[in-house]
Amino acid sequence: MQWVKVLGGVVGAAALLGLGIIVGHFAIPKGADSPAPSASASQDLDLKILETVMEQLDANRIRENLRELSKEPHLATSPRDEALVQLLLQRWQDPESGLDSARTTEYEVLLSFPSEEQPNRVDVVNSTGAVLFSCRQSEENVTGEQGGPDVVPPYAAYAPPGTPQGPLVYANQGSEEDFKELQKEAVKLQDSIVLTRYGGVGRGAKAVNAAKYGVAGVLVYTDPKDINDGKSLPNETFPHSWCLPPSGVERGSYFEYFGDPLTPYLPATPSSFRLNSDNASGFPPIPIQPIGFEDAQVLLCNLGGKLAPAGWQGGLGCDYNLGPGFRSNGIFPEDGQVNVSVHNRLELRNSSNVLGIIRGAVEPDRYVLYGNHRDSWVHGAVDPSTGTAVLLELSRVLGTLLKKGTWRPRRSIVFASWGAEEFGLIGSTEFTEEFFSKLQERAVAYINVDISVFANATLRVQGTPPIQSVVFSAAKQISAPGSSGLSIYDNWIRYYNRSSSVYGLVPSVGTLGAGSDYAPFIHFLGISSMDIAYTYDRSKTSARIYPTYHTAFDTFDYVDKFLDPGFSSHQAVARTAGSVLLRLSDSLFLPLNVSDYSETLRSFLQAAENLRDLLEQHNISFGPLVTAVEKFEGAATSFNQRIATLWEGTPDPLQVRMINDQLMLLERTFLNSQAFPEERYYSHVLWAPRTGSVATFPGLSNAYSQAENTGHEPAAWAEVQRQLSIVVAALEGAAATLRPVADL
Ligand SMILES: [Zn+2]
Repeated sequence: MQWVKVLGGVVGAAALLGLGIIVGHFAIPKGADSPAPSASASQDLDLKILETVMEQLDANRIRENLRELSKEPHLATSPRDEALVQLLLQRWQDPESGLDSARTTEYEVLLSFPSEEQPNRVDVVNSTGAVLFSCRQSEENVTGEQGGPDVVPPYAAYAPPGTPQGPLVYANQGSEEDFKELQKEAVKLQDSIVLTRYGGVGRGAKAVNAAKYGVAGVLVYTDPKDINDGKSLPNETFPHSWCLPPSGVERGSYFEYFGDPLTPYLPATPSSFRLNSDNASGFPPIPIQPIGFEDAQVLLCNLGGKLAPAGWQGGLGCDYNLGPGFRSNGIFPEDGQVNVSVHNRLELRNSSNVLGIIRGAVEPDRYVLYGNHRDSWVHGAVDPSTGTAVLLELSRVLGTLLKKGTWRPRRSIVFASWGAEEFGLIGSTEFTEEFFSKLQERAVAYINVDISVFANATLRVQGTPPIQSVVFSAAKQISAPGSSGLSIYDNWIRYYNRSSSVYGLVPSVGTLGAGSDYAPFIHFLGISSMDIAYTYDRSKTSARIYPTYHTAFDTFDYVDKFLDPGFSSHQAVARTAGSVLLRLSDSLFLPLNVSDYSETLRSFLQAAENLRDLLEQHNISFGPLVTAVEKFEGAATSFNQRIATLWEGTPDPLQVRMINDQLMLLERTFLNSQAFPEERYYSHVLWAPRTGSVATFPGLSNAYSQAENTGHEPAAWAEVQRQLSIVVAALEGAAATLRPVADL
C-alpha cells in the first residue's frame, strides 16, 4: 500500500498549491508549476500531516484530560454529566484548537435509578423476620472517593421494584444450563432467592433464566477467582494493587436490548410516540440486586445442600454448596431466608450527545465518525474516560491544524460524545434513529474508542473485515509502548494472531457484538465499524475485565498508578485510532479492503458444508450458497484490480467517487431488516448474534439449531431455508454492488 500513498501525495501537492484551497499543508516547494484543473479532487493522504499528528498526540495532555473527566462521578444526566457536555462544547469551540462547529442533540429517554429515600437492601432474616445480617448498601470508602451524594449506590438498572424473600440457592452464572443442572439435582427453585456470579451470560439473562423456574429474586456478585486472579484480602486489593476490593460492586444495565426502551426505531424526541413503560419489553422480570464478594462470602460460605459442581467453585475460600437454605453448623439458622428489597424507579430524563464537526474539503458529504460515550457509573476513569481523554487529545491536535489552516480533511469528520451509553447504548442508538437516512447515504465508517486502555500489553481491535487493512497499515507505522522496539502491529501479533489463507500469520481482529456504541452503527445501519483499545496479556491474568469495572474504585489514581502509569498505552491508542481516522478521511480511495470479506464468507461456507447433507435431505439446495460466495469472491477480486488499474493512470474524480461509493455501500448490502424479526435492530446477516453451535452465517446457524431442538419440525426447516435464501440474496447483492456499475 505504501506506493499508493506516495503517488497520491505527489498528485495532491501539485494540485492544491495551484488552487490554494488549503494553505500550507502541501506547501512543500516541489514541482508545483502546472496544476491540473480538477486537482483538489485528487488530494490524497498527506504522510507529513500524518506524522505531525502522530508526534503531537501528547501522553501528558491525555493524563490531564483524564484527571478532569474523572474528577467527579458523572452518571448519565447528572449535573456533572451536563457539565462535561459544556466542557466538550467548549473544547470543540475553542478558537485555537476547536473544530468547525459543535452542537448538542438532546433526547428524552427512560433511565432507571435506585430510590434515595428507600435504599435497596439485602438481608438475612430468621423465621420471625428478625434481621440477622445485612449486606452493605454502599462500597467501603477506601480512598475518600467512594462516599458522597454523587456516588450512586450499587443497583441493577431496570430491575423492577419488589421485596421477594426465600431460601437461598447458588446458581453459578445463572445460565440456562446452570438452572437445568439445579433442576437435575432436585434443588427447589420455586420462590427461592438465587445467588449468581457475574460472567457466562449477560446481566439481564440471569433474571430471565431464573424467572422461568419460579425464582423470586436474584443476587449477583463478582467472584475473586473471576476478577482478581483469586486475590481477595483488603491488603492485596486497590489501593494496594489493581484488584477489586471486597466491597466493590459492579453496577450495570439489565435491559436486554439497546436504545431508549420506550422508543424503539424512533428518535426519543419529546414529541415522539412512546410505549407505556408497562408495555416496554426487555426489562428483568424479577428483582435483582448486585452485591460485593465480601457479602457474597457470608451468604455462600454458609449455604447448605449438596456440594456444587467443580466448575461452580470460586475464590471465596470455602466449598460452595447449592442450597436451598443455610447449613446446620453455619452462622445462620437452617431455615433463615434472604430478603431482597429493590426500590428502583424508572424516570424520563434529558440526555445529550455532543457532536463536533470538521467539514471535508473535497467530499463534505462523506462522513467519518469517531465516538465514545461520556456517562459513567461513578467516576468512570477507565470506563469511559480513558476513551474520552484520547478523543479530546485527538480532536485538539486536528483542531489546531485546522485553525492554523495547515490541514483540512478530504471528507468530513464527526466527533461524537454519546449520552447514557451505560443504560443501553442510548445516545448513539437515538442518533442512528434520528439521522438514519443521512448516515446510510453518507457515513463511510465509525470508529469507537470507549475504554481505551484495559491494560498495557497489546492493541486489541474488533471490527468488520474491510477495516482490517487500514488498522494494519496504521499499526505497522507506530511504535508499541515500552522498550521492545516493536511496532504496535508486531507486538499485537505476539498476543492475538490467526493464520489467514490470504496473508499467513496476522493479528486477529475480533467481531463486534453489542458491548459499546458501535452496535447501532454496524447492526442497524450497516456502517463499517471498529472498536480500538489496548489490553491484557492473557497469560498474566484471567480477569474477566479490569477489576474495578463499574465500581466506585474506577478512579483517576487507579489508572495513573496501576492501569497505565505514564499514559503510553493511551498515547498508542490515540496514535492508532488517529492514524486510522486520518487514513479514512484523507485517502483518495477509501482504505477499506472489501476482498477481506471473502475470507470470512469462505469460513462460514466451510462450516455450513457440515450441514449440507441434512439440508439436502430436507430438499434445501446448498448450491446457491456456494455460487453466491464464489460470485462475491470474483467480484471483490476484480473490483480491487479495477482500483489498481485506476492508480496506474490519473484517476478521474468521478471514477474515484464511484469506487468509493461501492466501498462505502458494501457493508449496507448485508442488511436485511426482515431477517431477524425477534431481534431489535439486528439486521446485518453476517454479524447478528449467533446462538447455534455451527460457526456459520448466524441466521442459518440459529435456525438449524432450532430445527434440531424441535425434533426437526417442518416449520423449523422452512426457517432454515428462509435463512439460507436471506444469505444468498445478501451475497448476490453484495457481489452486484462491487461489479462495474454499468453491469446491471
Ligand atoms: Zn464504556
